[in-house]
Amino acid sequence: MSERNPYQMALEQLDKCAKMMKLDPNVHEILKYPKRVLCVNVPVKMDDGTVKVFQGFRSQHNDALGPFKGGIRYHPNVTMEEVMALSVWMTWKCAVAALPYGGSKGGVICNPKEMSVGEIERLSRGYFSAISVIVGPDRDIPAGDVNTSGREMAWFMDEYSRLRTYNVPGTVTGKPLPIGGSEGRVEATGKGVSIAGREGAKKLGIELRRADVVVQGFGNVGYHSAKFMSEFGCKITGLSDSKGGIYNPKGFNVDEVFRFKEKKGTLVGYPDAKEITNEELLERKCDILIPCALENQITEENAHRIKSRLVLEGANGPTTPEADEILHQSGVMVVPDILANAGGVSVSYFEWVQNLQNYYWSREEVNDKLDRLMVKAFNSVYETYLRYETDMRMAAYICAINRVTEAMRIRGWV
Ligand code: NAD
Repeated sequence: MSERNPYQMALEQLDKCAKMMKLDPNVHEILKYPKRVLCVNVPVKMDDGTVKVFQGFRSQHNDALGPFKGGIRYHPNVTMEEVMALSVWMTWKCAVAALPYGGSKGGVICNPKEMSVGEIERLSRGYFSAISVIVGPDRDIPAGDVNTSGREMAWFMDEYSRLRTYNVPGTVTGKPLPIGGSEGRVEATGKGVSIAGREGAKKLGIELRRADVVVQGFGNVGYHSAKFMSEFGCKITGLSDSKGGIYNPKGFNVDEVFRFKEKKGTLVGYPDAKEITNEELLERKCDILIPCALENQITEENAHRIKSRLVLEGANGPTTPEADEILHQSGVMVVPDILANAGGVSVSYFEWVQNLQNYYWSREEVNDKLDRLMVKAFNSVYETYLRYETDMRMAAYICAINRVTEAMRIRGWV
C-alpha cells in the first residue's frame, strides 16, 4: 500500500478531475468531505473472560443519488482516513455504474485471524448494533469487504432484524442464498470484468477468439474472470496465486486448474506448465492482462515492460498513478477498477432490489441484467474518454462526478 494518506489521495484525484472538467467550486467543496463519519467503541466479551474494546467506523460520503452503499472491513490496519477515502471511492463506483446509491464504507480495527468464531460474532453484532442508528435498507446498506463475507452479513442482518423486531433482509448485501442472497453474486465481479474486457476488446479491435489472456490472482475475481474470458473464446495462457505463476502458450483449461488448486492449495505444480514468478507473469506478451490480486502490482518499475494492449483492473488499485501515466503514453488501455470490478456492487444492488420486492430472480435474469448494466457503464465511460481526450480512469471519475453533480444540482444542494 502507498505510504500516502489514502484520504489525501482521494482528494488529490478529485482535484485533478475538478480541474479537467471545470467543476463548480461549490460542488467541489461539498464533495471533499464525507457527509457523516461515525466512530464507535465496541466492548466484546472475549473467550478468556476479559472485555476488550474494539474501535470501528462508518463513513457516509455522499447520498445525492440514493442511499449510501459500501462494505465493512475487519483489519488491524484500518484507520478513519482509510475508511473515509474508501467511502469517497464508493460514491464514484456506484455512480459510474449508474446505480441509485451514494458511497459509504465501514471498518473495524481488529485481527479476525487471532479471534475465535464466537468472538468475531460478538464483535460483528456489537459493531452493527452500534452503527444501526445510521444504517438500514433506506439509509445505508453495508456489504462484505476484506475479512468479512456471507457469515458476517448473516449476523449483521440478524442483529438489525432483532433490533427492529422483524426481518429486514435488505439491511446488507452479500448474504447467503437461504436468507435473501442473490443468484449470481459469487461470480458477479469476475463476470463484470469479462464483460468490460469484451467491450474494451471491441474498441481496440482485439478478436477474442484469437486473444491471449493473463490473469494475476486466482481467487474469486481471478478465477471467474479467467473462466468467463475463456468462455468468450480467449486463450488463458498465464495464471498465478500468491505462491507463483504458471504459463502455457497453448492455454489452460481454467476449471481443471481450479480443481488442481482446490486439491493442492496452489496452482504451482500444475502439469504441462512453465513455472514463472508473479513479476514475470505481468510482463508476458498477451493481448489482455487482468490483475486480480492486490494493490500496487503495476508500478513505474515494470509498467514499461507490460506488453498487453488492454488491462482490466479486477483488483482494487493494482496500478500506481505513475504506472498509469506510462501505460497511457504507451497506448495501453486500462479499464479502471471502479468500472472493471463494478459487477460486484451491481449484483449487490440487484440483491437489495430483490429483498425490497420479496421476489427473486433466476441466475439467467441476474446475468442478463448485469451484462446490460456493464455495457451501458462501459460505453458512457468510453464516450467521456473520447470527449475529454484523457485516459479511461479519469473518464470514469469524470462520468461519476458528473452524475453526482447533476443530482446535487437538481436537489438544490448547490
Ligand atoms: P481472494 O482472496 O478470493 O483472491 C485473491 C487471490 O490473489 C488469491 O488467489 C491469492 O493467492 C492471490 N494473491 C495474493 N497475493 C498475491 C500476490 N502477491 N501475487 C499474486 N497473487 C496473489 O480475493 P478476491 O475477492 O478475488 O479479490 C481480489 C481483488 O479484487 C481485491 O483487490 C479485491 O478488493 C477486489 N475486488 C473483489 C470483489 C469481490 O466481489 N470479491 C469486488 C470488487 C473488487
